[in-house]
Amino acid sequence: MTSYHNHYLHVDLSSGTWSTFALPEDVLERYVGGKGVGAYLLALHQDPRAEPFDPANPLIFVTGPLTGTQAPSMRSAAIFQSPLTCLFTDSYFGGFFGQELKYAGYDGLLITGQAARPCYLEINDGRVAIQDAAHLWGLDTYQTYERLRADYPEREWRLVCIGPAGERQVKFAVIDCDPHRQAGRGGGGAVMGAKNLKAIVVRGTGKLSLADPQGFKERVRAALHEMKDNSYIKGFHSGGTPASIPWADAEGLLPTRNFQRGSFPQAEQLGDAAQRERYWYRDIACAACPIACSKLGRLQEGRFAGLEGDTLEYESAAMLGSNLEVGQTDGAIYLGLLCDKLGLDTISAGAVLSFACEAVEKGLLKADVRFGDVESLAALLQDIAARRGVGDLLAEGVRATAAEIGGGADYFAMHVKGLELPAWGPRGVPAMGLAYMTADRGGCHQRAFPILYEAGGETWKGQSYERLSLEGKAQLLAEVQNRLAGLDTLITCDFGRYGLSDQTYLDLLAVATGRRLSLDELYRLGERIWNLTRLFNLQAGLTREEEDLPRRFKEEPLPDGPAAGHRFTEADIERLRADYYAVRGWDENGVPKPETLAALEIKYP
Ligand code: SF4
Repeated sequence: MTSYHNHYLHVDLSSGTWSTFALPEDVLERYVGGKGVGAYLLALHQDPRAEPFDPANPLIFVTGPLTGTQAPSMRSAAIFQSPLTCLFTDSYFGGFFGQELKYAGYDGLLITGQAARPCYLEINDGRVAIQDAAHLWGLDTYQTYERLRADYPEREWRLVCIGPAGERQVKFAVIDCDPHRQAGRGGGGAVMGAKNLKAIVVRGTGKLSLADPQGFKERVRAALHEMKDNSYIKGFHSGGTPASIPWADAEGLLPTRNFQRGSFPQAEQLGDAAQRERYWYRDIACAACPIACSKLGRLQEGRFAGLEGDTLEYESAAMLGSNLEVGQTDGAIYLGLLCDKLGLDTISAGAVLSFACEAVEKGLLKADVRFGDVESLAALLQDIAARRGVGDLLAEGVRATAAEIGGGADYFAMHVKGLELPAWGPRGVPAMGLAYMTADRGGCHQRAFPILYEAGGETWKGQSYERLSLEGKAQLLAEVQNRLAGLDTLITCDFGRYGLSDQTYLDLLAVATGRRLSLDELYRLGERIWNLTRLFNLQAGLTREEEDLPRRFKEEPLPDGPAAGHRFTEADIERLRADYYAVRGWDENGVPKPETLAALEIKYP
């Protein structure tokens, strides 16, 4: 008896057929769940050199072994080859969809093929149906949720869907969940749109088994107690992620005007206090999460009065606020809600808009858009989602747009490996720069966040790190990446991790599944997965030259904050990359050495 089903659903939209499968025991042994199993399935079913929207490409939804249990703050993931980066991508989301999939009897869902016309997938325990979605096509995510709710009124029905941006295969379209949660990064919504798949609804009436039900109850109680007095958890609950805005601003890390600067005079307007005053009215939580980091809001007055939806997370507040020089709380909230409704990743959308503003200023792009002008920014977002006019070009992301318009636009195209950078400027925190360079899915802060150790006053294994030094940073980063990739097999929420020790997660895993892992085994598991995704990316054509930072970070010193004056020299980049490859047991081109793969017992499917 265990919270694993080892039962996966495969739906082929081309033939309209479905079947189920189990993973070989040795695969579960080696990859556990979540990211590990998703990476394995992607390697098994995806040709890394296929065209981004080839119907044969799979879209995979995976859960973790604790998803659906009362273990606190567990989530789910969408795994696919990103049309934006052409790399392995894992995009995590909260809500209730993954939990319901487990109650329906599945640990994951593999979708291949392409429907002949718009459809949605209905999973009702063991019954699977592909339904016509003509009445949903063209609706935004909020409207789609409302229409489906009318047809599936019982609360147990959970859903994911795409907006107009996903339908038109905008390469940074999200998969919206429930709503209020998104698998945001890398363009999963575009993959779904290419399959003519507008939504998935799922309901399950099954119960999860547990290896040791009494032990599990006790472990959950202990975990909740552990979280209760944790200062990070309290902060996420009371202020949500935008509470980080003032700190990022003071540290010179808050992207401003397309990452030209690291602090913003109106930063206060984007933080939790301003949003609370003008907007918030209640907390929302994912399944079995005591943190409830997200807030719902309604604008009571001003030119956007009546707008209602999610408040701005830190990343959205920064990328649609300071990075666009939008210093009014209402204006940034309006842009965030527009992204949510159109089904756009707020991080990439903010980076694409700021790139467009700068390109227009430099005479490289013709578009009616300006920094700080909410109306023109909103109009361009609509054009991107509709692939209208210059929006069609920008819908390809900043890397492709810069290559198309030329004129040195790559200098201010703020991405790594095609993924637009999130809202933490890396100048002044070199390990964060290396984290962007080496993250398996491209410029991403969630595969490791070494800012904590470089500027946040935290220690790693009892050791402090000098902020600007490069010494030991590659080792630090690889260890943090391994840890997080290990935890991503359980799909623990990024924020829950701040309040629970890794040992607590392993204790929960043991009583839920009977599987006992040591801490060393967890980190080794993460290292194995990191090498598996590396092999996938190399087959997809990744080169060492792409593991670099945008030229702006190398040529313009950071103008703000305690690390003002810092920039990455070419020698810094070379040193960080070479150190990292050596720590990982990769050759000078970033290819895992045979002995590294053998030691990690990696068999590429
Ligand atoms: S901390 Fe926030 S994102 Fe994470 S599981 Fe809880 S409510 Fe969801």
